Amino acid sequence: MVKIAYLTPATPEERKRYYREEWDIKLIPDYITHSIQEREFGFDHVGRGPNDRYKVFRTPELLKRFLKVRTPFAAYCSVAFYDKPRRRDKWTKAELVFDVDAKDIPIRTCGCEGVCEICLNEALEIVSGILDTLKGDLGLDNIHIVYSGRGYHIRVLDNNVMGVDSDVRSQIVKYLVGADVPKNEYSLDYEKVSYEHFVIPFGYPNVFTARVKYSILHLNKDTELDEVNKKLVKDIIKHRHLIEDDNWGMFKNKIGPQRYRKAMNGIASMNMSLVDAKVSIDLKRILRLPSSLHSMVSMKCTEVKNIETFDPFKEAVPKFVYERKD
Ligand SMILES: [Zn+2]
Repeated sequence: MVKIAYLTPATPEERKRYYREEWDIKLIPDYITHSIQEREFGFDHVGRGPNDRYKVFRTPELLKRFLKVRTPFAAYCSVAFYDKPRRRDKWTKAELVFDVDAKDIPIRTCGCEGVCEICLNEALEIVSGILDTLKGDLGLDNIHIVYSGRGYHIRVLDNNVMGVDSDVRSQIVKYLVGADVPKNEYSLDYEKVSYEHFVIPFGYPNVFTARVKYSILHLNKDTELDEVNKKLVKDIIKHRHLIEDDNWGMFKNKIGPQRYRKAMNGIASMNMSLVDAKVSIDLKRILRLPSSLHSMVSMKCTEVKNIETFDPFKEAVPKFVYERKD
């Protein structure tokens, strides 16, 4: 098998080829092109961060022309909608977004330097768990998953959440990742948080249990948890087959009730870094534009149509990567 130089930076020449020969305006999802006039766009032309901001396109055709001529290093678009996007003025609403970066997963098992197939796959498993909770427990359904190049973005466009403020978004993140230890693990008595158009329902312990289970099954002996010593991490790993069988009572017995509480607190606090919470609470964030090129890794930022079958190494590799010599 020929070894392909995956995940290495794209040259300016390759960027040009990508935007002029392969990229198509149709690859930008409708939820962006339909609201193009209300969004702010940002670009990075040289690879030093998106400093060409406050760009506005009245039509997809104008954005197309811009991308084909400028072939940027990176392209971004706001999650926010504005009446006056050119000045980021008169904010009306923003998508609710979650950023799962494979590089930053605290319990990834690969130990690679950047990202690789293993941690990208683990990122997708985390996304899948969050997606189930968004749909099943929070009743949201206008949800889009985007492969960003180094991880995944979950973008929620249900109208009842697009108006909520940063505090509510921060509560939603904690709920989704299992970052608060339930007051009583045997009751469904999570404080119900309710806002004008949006309610976090009861049933939090189920979400918490699912997230903690995932984290425990992925711990390794070097994982660092707040206020949990190495011996306890070792014991968690030793007895985690009980968690795999959902035998939590026996697990707690083996570990000891006080150490069990410590373990739960440590894992809850680690769970907070499964997503980048800064991204979720920022009401004016710009996110990598689906269809654009992630030039650092030569991958296409790609809308995920089917999360069960998505494989970035099949669907998000631009043609020029296959045509590279050596
Ligand atoms: Zn990796």
